[in-house]
Amino acid sequence: MTMNEHPLVARAHRLAHEVLAPSAERVDQEGLPASHLDAIRRSGLLGVSAPEAYGGWAAPAAVARRTAEILAGACCSTWFVQTQHHTPVAALTGCEGPVREQLLGPLARGELLSGVAYAHLRSYPRTPVRVTREGDGWRFDGTVPWYTGWGLNDVMLLAGVTEGGEVVFAFTEAREQPGLRASEPMRLAALTASRTVSLELDGLWLPADAVALRKPYEEWADTDRAKTVETSPAVIGITEAALTLLDEETAGPLRTRLSEIRGGAYDLADRSAADEHLAERLTLRIRAAELMRTATTAAVVAGGGRSLSLAGPAQRLAREALFLLVQGQTAQSRGAHLEALVAHAS
Ligand SMILES: Cc1cc2nc3c(=O)[nH]c(=O)nc-3n(C[C@H](O)[C@H](O)[C@H](O)COP(=O)(O)OP(=O)(O)OC[C@H]3O[C@@H](n4cnc5c(N)ncnc54)[C@H](O)[C@@H]3O)c2cc1C
Repeated sequence: MTMNEHPLVARAHRLAHEVLAPSAERVDQEGLPASHLDAIRRSGLLGVSAPEAYGGWAAPAAVARRTAEILAGACCSTWFVQTQHHTPVAALTGCEGPVREQLLGPLARGELLSGVAYAHLRSYPRTPVRVTREGDGWRFDGTVPWYTGWGLNDVMLLAGVTEGGEVVFAFTEAREQPGLRASEPMRLAALTASRTVSLELDGLWLPADAVALRKPYEEWADTDRAKTVETSPAVIGITEAALTLLDEETAGPLRTRLSEIRGGAYDLADRSAADEHLAERLTLRIRAAELMRTATTAAVVAGGGRSLSLAGPAQRLAREALFLLVQGQTAQSRGAHLEALVAHAS
């Protein structure tokens, strides 16, 4: 079976055409309806990479990337809320604790939707979320600056760091509870629909059984580094969507560049170990981001004044592109991107 023949690719296309794309501008302005996420839950896409034994599809990485491109190109807010789920699925797949048996099946089958709160780990040795041993469990204190899907997802995978430099990832219900308070959903230049909040943790206690991962920070960071140099399929999806708003004379050359960057980035991701080719992968990530900026800007230019209408796709895609420039950003990727921008301007 080729990647494009995979049933999940067909389902993603159907969802995109019938549900997501037709209401993307309304969702962008009014918020993500639960019905969109119900459709995602029913589609099987939440289990794209989950083990078959737990009801998932264990699909190749190419299928996971293609379905993400399709969803993001149709409605970036929906893509973003559901993409959080795939990190908890991967964490459970790799863990042996009781939480795997409790949650992997429901997450793989889409019965439960998970969010994630861990990007703050990347500011180590700053520890916005501190974890301490307390009884037969762990106590979490501090601030999670970004948590997406509040009020939309059921559980969250929360991470912090101990004084001894160990990362601890544990699951809890995604609702207010003793020791956990959420801000109001943030009003943002893009993705306001994703219900992103910050979380205040003041002695949130989670039992040892809720822990999915514990390891020294450096060991975790070694595998995380690969993630933050990868080209996001969402960047490709937004670029593809912007190209559909252009005439062929403008879109053609950009499409050729997109196909070259996409092929290069995915090929490198598939054949590299976590610590290999990091600089080349980051270069391709930045080239993909710049092409997305060009394509979304071209879509605005091509549409003229009408592009500024909130009812039209060009301005939405341009704002979603702004968001993707900082998603998963690290000090290193930010520095490299700024250097590339300066080099391009001179
Ligand atoms: C709308 C939105 C929704 C998001 N949703 C989620 C979510 O659901 N879950 C989640 O985990 N994340 C989420 N994020 C986080 C997102 O991935 C981060 O924006 C991205 O990682 C950049 O982080 P930042 O802007 O918070 O970090 P910044 O504070 O700008 O830091 C960027 C990097 O600089 C370095 N750094 C910063 N300050 C210091 C310092 N004082 N000392 C040393 N190094 C430092 C760190 O390496 C850090 O990673 C969301 C972000 C946005 C904008």
